[in-house]
Amino acid sequence: MTIASNRRAENAVSRHLIDAGDHYIGPVQAGQTIRIVDVDGNEAADTLFFNADDPSERYSCMDTVREQGQVYLTTGSELRSNLNNVMLTITADTVGRHDTLGGACASESNTVRYDLEKRHMHSCRDNWMLAIANHPEYGIDKRDIAHNINFFMNVPVTADGELYFDDGISGPGKYVEMAAAMDVVVLISNCPQLNNPCSGFNPTPLEVLIWD
Ligand SMILES: [Zn+2]
Repeated sequence: MTIASNRRAENAVSRHLIDAGDHYIGPVQAGQTIRIVDVDGNEAADTLFFNADDPSERYSCMDTVREQGQVYLTTGSELRSNLNNVMLTITADTVGRHDTLGGACASESNTVRYDLEKRHMHSCRDNWMLAIANHPEYGIDKRDIAHNINFFMNVPVTADGELYFDDGISGPGKYVEMAAAMDVVVLISNCPQLNNPCSGFNPTPLEVLIWD
């Protein structure tokens, strides 16, 4: 369900542009609201959340899908952890549906999906590894990197249970907004993938805004 936010960008306490193919890591405190903006449209925000006090508690696709009884995320969805605690709730969404199942690109999967020659290309997995290596203060280890949310990405599930990557249903300036129920660290790869429609074959910037 699409619901627009009445929050104003000029009142945000933090604004950060994630360049095409780049990454972002940072804290969001309980009670704060984070918005991720699809600046030019048709981009994929491969996103992970961790309990800021204990990164072994983290966003769980399985717990989230089971508790809400559907595979897509939109306004009202509660993002749950592997301990089944609510981490964040989606409070506004101008797209209407976000993917929980498609996973993130990695050099290994790129060679399987596309071509051996794609192995050297940048990937979300590499983005996350670089982010946690450069920011040891968050205490996130590579073993903590699990299944992610793909905000703005369109991965329909067919009647017979197949997944496929499809053209995006997002657009320029569309966004998703979440209220944090606990202190979390957010880790976003602005997907650098050039080989499927998730980035429109042309990665573009994302923006992160945070309000108190
Ligand atoms: Zn990716």
